[in-house]
Amino acid sequence: MSRIISLRKAILSGSKNASSVVKESLEKVSKDSNLNCWINIYGKEALEKASEIDEKIKKGEDPGRLCGIPVAVKDNMLVRGMKTTNASRMLNEYISPYTATAVEKMQAAGAIIIGKTNMDEFAMGSSGETSAFGATRNPIDTARSPGGSSSGSAACVSADHVPAALGSDTGGSIRQPAAFCGIVGMKPTYGIVSRYGISPFSSSLDQVGPIASTVLDAAIILEIIAGYDRRDSTSIKKEVPGYAETINDSIQGVKIGIPAEYMQDGTDPPVRDSVLAASELLEKMGAKIKEVSLPLTKYAVSVYYIIAPAEASANLARLDGIRYGLSADSGKDFISDVTASRTEAFGIEVKRRIMLGTYVLSSGYYEDYYIKAQKARTLIKNEFMEVFKDVDLIFAPTSPTTAFKLGEKTGDILKMYLSDVFTISANLAGIPALNLPVGRDSKNLPVGAQFMGNYLSEKLIFRTAHALEKELSSSEKQ
Ligand code: GLN
Repeated sequence: MSRIISLRKAILSGSKNASSVVKESLEKVSKDSNLNCWINIYGKEALEKASEIDEKIKKGEDPGRLCGIPVAVKDNMLVRGMKTTNASRMLNEYISPYTATAVEKMQAAGAIIIGKTNMDEFAMGSSGETSAFGATRNPIDTARSPGGSSSGSAACVSADHVPAALGSDTGGSIRQPAAFCGIVGMKPTYGIVSRYGISPFSSSLDQVGPIASTVLDAAIILEIIAGYDRRDSTSIKKEVPGYAETINDSIQGVKIGIPAEYMQDGTDPPVRDSVLAASELLEKMGAKIKEVSLPLTKYAVSVYYIIAPAEASANLARLDGIRYGLSADSGKDFISDVTASRTEAFGIEVKRRIMLGTYVLSSGYYEDYYIKAQKARTLIKNEFMEVFKDVDLIFAPTSPTTAFKLGEKTGDILKMYLSDVFTISANLAGIPALNLPVGRDSKNLPVGAQFMGNYLSEKLIFRTAHALEKELSSSEKQ
């Protein structure tokens, strides 16, 4: 059942009004403050907007498809008048001068932004722990990480503060937290959602997408936020298809490949078991399942951790305490002021990425690392294209493990990076991928699996994921 559709019905029929829905949402937010999933809440503004929507409804005007539904926005997306901190001391006081296109579209559809969500600093992390405002907690087990970097957006949807949130995914930051929190998260094809107004991390990998409690809700949000934007030079000039329209169509004959490399010893047995059980359900529904191979998967982490830091180091260069951000006074010259500002304002992970990035871009190393990584990226993309000649979709674990404990990987950064092994290939190739909860392990922690498809195959992904979601919930009830 779609949370968005049922709330919309309730608001339009008058059995609830937008103001009471927003109030309820704000109450849940304050009750769950221990989860630390929000950085800034805009309750007063949200209630004002809700009463505007209620007025519109009274007057018989169209309140939009999201008519007063409360939503969350990751704190790397600009919303005019609200702070956009990127969970960094650097931008703690930064007020957005304009609104990101994706957010603007949500607002135009009548969505009400409750606040901005916690995240890893500048979206660099896989656990939510690199935030300057402290770690987010997983609502399913508060001793555990909700995943990252869209930690707050996933946690607040999982805790039912709001039915949907926006996240960003550079190397898995929508899908992996969705997997850890037992909800749906979609990274669309690169270029279908505008990046205008999104703080850039790694521009050739970043994509905005929905986090929601059902596949249909994610499809509705993506329909709203996708589309050409002349303010983003990488935006694809294409009509947005109706993802929700065909979501109930049959999946008879859909060819689905399970990549052997994702199901080997490095993947926890309960994760493998849940993915296999889900693939059996897909087969029962008429899909054709076969094993496929993506042998270059083992290079994805190395390639990503060269390209992403390289782009990040260039993107973050503007944060110098003069054009943007916290300004420290060294009492000496200009260069010392910039150094002092960046030393004081950035956290350790961001500094590590900047150093890695500037190193791989420096003359002498550029050819050995950066160029080589770009070549390997093309090979990874080509490998996907070969597999998509044979199957329509790929179905695989989103993460090798379920949610790990807070603090479990912070001491070993390589372990943290390796936990991204299954999500980053889709970003390197630019293809769409959606996380769906497919089971639970023995500790009752959610297992997530992802459908990956060829460019612009969102419609097929939503349809297949929706079919599986329905089948899983009916087999759970039996
Ligand atoms: N965990 C990955 C990283 O730390 C991905 C982050 C993301 O997708 N924003 O870079």
